[in-house]
Amino acid sequence: MLIAVTYHYVRPGFAGSAPGIYGITPGELETQLRLLGTVGEFVSIAQVRAAVRDRGRLPPRALLVTLDDGLREQVDHALPVLDRLGIPAVFFVNTWPIANRAISTVHKIHLLRANTSPTNFYALLQAEGRRQGIEVGPGVVPAAAAVQYPWDSPESAQLKYFLNHELAPDVKDAIIGPCFRHVFGDAEEAISGDLYMDIERLRELGARGYLGTHGHRHVHLGRLSRPALQENVRTSLDTLVQWTGVRPFALAYPFGSLEASRVEAAAVAEAGVELAFTMERAANVDLDRPLHLARFDCNELPAGRQPSFTVHSLFDSAPWARWHREMPEPGVPGNAMAAALKET
Ligand SMILES: [Zn+2]
Repeated sequence: MLIAVTYHYVRPGFAGSAPGIYGITPGELETQLRLLGTVGEFVSIAQVRAAVRDRGRLPPRALLVTLDDGLREQVDHALPVLDRLGIPAVFFVNTWPIANRAISTVHKIHLLRANTSPTNFYALLQAEGRRQGIEVGPGVVPAAAAVQYPWDSPESAQLKYFLNHELAPDVKDAIIGPCFRHVFGDAEEAISGDLYMDIERLRELGARGYLGTHGHRHVHLGRLSRPALQENVRTSLDTLVQWTGVRPFALAYPFGSLEASRVEAAAVAEAGVELAFTMERAANVDLDRPLHLARFDCNELPAGRQPSFTVHSLFDSAPWARWHREMPEPGVPGNAMAAALKET
């Protein structure tokens, strides 16, 4: 069994931030990794690839550490902890924001939420939406939002779900861009430089075999046509090999939801990817679907903010990955479980 865990922001302190930037401190990271290490064995992404390629075996209770979004603080604050503990990891990086000294819309949203109150942010969105003739309002089923963002307040989860999962990407870019400029002026390039890894850091990760792709742009791959999906992934891989001399073989689907990862495995494989990870909160009981591997968020694992398991029950009680597996369609009598799984 392989249990993968995802981290995003890792920084010494989050004091003073309004809701928006969720993360952990290096000390919390160390505590969690030490705890997980008592029940499992950390493996590298190369070990997972070897197990898939050769139909080989991972340790029976394998753990994989992943970090998404190419954030500079992950190299500066998480990597030293990982190195001290002798734990390998894979860092999934978007190449577009680094190449263009820009900020992905998803991170503009985090920054806006961290620097404006929810009320002000919502007012800003509505004002910009009105200016552009776009209706802005979280017409979102609260339960769906709560599943995706369990540690946000209901209003905040709905707004986040609306922004990340309901608004068409081009519309979202069109609304968030002006909101960002309204709050941060022309600081995008400077903030991008602080937020994302530089090429030197990427080279270090590449040389260690720790580099993966999160796509060129941070977009829902599940919504793209096959050619657009492949172009997104190929551009990121070509750019990373050009920068670092190393071509990654692993992908994390941006947003990682069921919809965002609803892509043909063959299309992803053709683009040069051998392993790909969703955000299905589950354990991989086997490696039969290497292009749809499940991952937990760090907050859901023991020592996280809202752990779903005790450390000793983790490998025994974690649900098994089901997304994108061949399953009977919901609605067929007797398939209540398949229906329930689809719902989540
Ligand atoms: Zn991401």
